[in-house]
Amino acid sequence: MASLFNMPVTELKKIGAKRAELFAKLGIYSVGDLVRFYPRTYEDWSKPCRIEDAPEGMVCCIGGYVERVSPPSRIRGGMTILKAVVCDGNDRMTVTFFNQPYLYDLLSSGVDLLFYGTVKKAGYYYEMTAPTVSALQKAGIHPVYPQTAGLPSRHIEDAAKQAMKLLPEKMNDPLPEELREKYGLCSLDFAIRKIHFPDTFDDVETARKRLAFEELLILQLGMARLKSGRRDSGTAANRIVQDYSQEFFSMLPFEPTGAQKRAVSECIADMSSGGSPMNRLVQGDVGSGKTAVAAAVCYSAVKNNMQCAFMAPTEILAAQHYNSLSQLLLSCGIKVELLTGSVKQKEKKRICAALENGETDVVIGTHALISENVSFSNLGLVITDEQHRFGVSQRSALISKGKSPHILVMSATPIPRTLALMIFGDLELSVLDELPPGRQKVDTFLIDSAKRFRAFGFLKKHINEGRQCYIVCPLVGQSEMELESAEEYIEKLRSTPLADCRTGLLHGKMKPKDKEAVMADFSSGKIDVLVSTTVIEVGVDVPNATIMMIENAERFGLSQLHQLRGRVGRGKEKSYCILVSDHQGDTTRQRLTVMCKTNDGFRIADEDLRLRGPGDFFGSRQHGLPELKVASMSSMEILDQTQSAAVEILRDDPMLEKKEHRGLNFETKRLFSKTGSGQLQ
Ligand code: ADP
Ligand code: MG
Repeated sequence: MASLFNMPVTELKKIGAKRAELFAKLGIYSVGDLVRFYPRTYEDWSKPCRIEDAPEGMVCCIGGYVERVSPPSRIRGGMTILKAVVCDGNDRMTVTFFNQPYLYDLLSSGVDLLFYGTVKKAGYYYEMTAPTVSALQKAGIHPVYPQTAGLPSRHIEDAAKQAMKLLPEKMNDPLPEELREKYGLCSLDFAIRKIHFPDTFDDVETARKRLAFEELLILQLGMARLKSGRRDSGTAANRIVQDYSQEFFSMLPFEPTGAQKRAVSECIADMSSGGSPMNRLVQGDVGSGKTAVAAAVCYSAVKNNMQCAFMAPTEILAAQHYNSLSQLLLSCGIKVELLTGSVKQKEKKRICAALENGETDVVIGTHALISENVSFSNLGLVITDEQHRFGVSQRSALISKGKSPHILVMSATPIPRTLALMIFGDLELSVLDELPPGRQKVDTFLIDSAKRFRAFGFLKKHINEGRQCYIVCPLVGQSEMELESAEEYIEKLRSTPLADCRTGLLHGKMKPKDKEAVMADFSSGKIDVLVSTTVIEVGVDVPNATIMMIENAERFGLSQLHQLRGRVGRGKEKSYCILVSDHQGDTTRQRLTVMCKTNDGFRIADEDLRLRGPGDFFGSRQHGLPELKVASMSSMEILDQTQSAAVEILRDDPMLEKKEHRGLNFETKRLFSKTGSGQLQ
């Protein structure tokens, strides 16, 4: 199997350089990659049904013969149309194809055929538009692969079929037999063959379960090894000799909460121990005041002659941290700089030079901080905000710019315990379980679009009182539509009570400079209603914004909704969150109702995990883990099982050196060699 990863896909029939480029877009370079590229779903061609029995509004497979077919004819816009009448021995339906004139031969061949599509009843007639058609011998379950423009699923299917023939007769299974027996898992050979070409849907389940198990196990083994690599980092090169946090607190315009004070003193204790460097996660719900904690630690570190790097996931956030920190720190002679991708070359050079010669004490920035030409004279403390957004490799790239620096990680997304263990494993944990005083619960309502107009009236009332609002519209369809749909939305506001309000637009495709300008206008009150896609989700702080309205709320995970809601309720005024959804499904209603009932992020995260399984979490790519394929279809049970299996394996063989772990070793390295997740040694 390993050798198939050295065989380029162009070795397969019908894949030339051009098509190989399309495969590459899907991350498939070798035959091995293809074997490990699993179908998204399946089409069931195995049980053709009769026209009369076709389920309403659902795709199904109809078996029949063509009674009449007329040659393809041209219609408007250069399209061709092909119509045939299909009989199943009892009923008849009209089938229509567009731009597939070549199907005429198959349709007039007189053989029995299968038609896969949706049967519609129109008066006394049945019809099926643009079905997939195939000869009867093709019956069975067909894989449907994730696609990219120009590469339809059946081309991938064809390639996968060829790849199956190249599989070695005896495949090395990364999962040792003992383990497979213990957890009732099928062999790799069976799993690979059946995930692509199953005979039954039970096969699919069996294969998926095994592959998900393998993937999660490998993930956990890899994470554990990354951590053990870190643990060797020895003694911290810098330590705090004198604690300056009290001095810092006295400069704050507010009294820190008990939780903030505790978190800071835990950090200071780590950093003054003289032993291994601090490795601490400060986890606190949105608005719990993590920035002040980071700043206090930063202040003490600088006073003890260390340099600090503070990395945030977006330019907006980096700028915001810069603004709040520099105000405090500059006044006491600490030099703070902002370094992001949009800083001009000349300015970058100046900042880098000042970091290298130690003139600058604190640098706040985005991924730009990990670029090669950034170096420090004595980087003693690395802080990352909203940590789960960074890949493992980005994290370690910044850390490697210092000599065993102290690490402080801040996370707002309340990750359920089971998953936090897996991702942050050996980090010490400080929890900010107390909100600054005077914060009020954000009242949350769930409405359907019929009430939207009234909701706009509610927004208007608050705007008249001087408040500001966010309206979040999730992406509709592809990201190209993003701008269009948000702009259209603003246009529509003109015929609502919000017609004369000052609106602003924020979306992911904007240049960082433009985003910042819009955010600055919103911050300074020049914008009443900020219509946005989800770019505002992370960390934005405008206390005067008191209403968050979220369209198509069902499209978001609960934790994401909670993050969004965290943008309001940051000031003294009562705040509201309005969830708009027309979705009637039970689980959806149940999920959204959780939002109305509680403001506790950890409860919400656990509830989300319970209601939806870990799939969304793994699917959302918000965790900085390597990309997973089948894990999103897995269950909590598999997650728990793999956790204990990983512990057992590593207890016995921490470097995966034993013969029976060779396959696991190989797959672990392969998973972590992919973009953004760091290399294992
Ligand atoms: P988060 O934990 O979400 O990063 P922030 O650090 O952005 O929260 O803090 C949210 C807001 O609360 C900021 O405006 C900050 O100035 C304010 N704040 C932080 N700590 C306190 C406190 N102890 N008392 C009052 N306000 C505070
Ligand atoms: Mg924050």
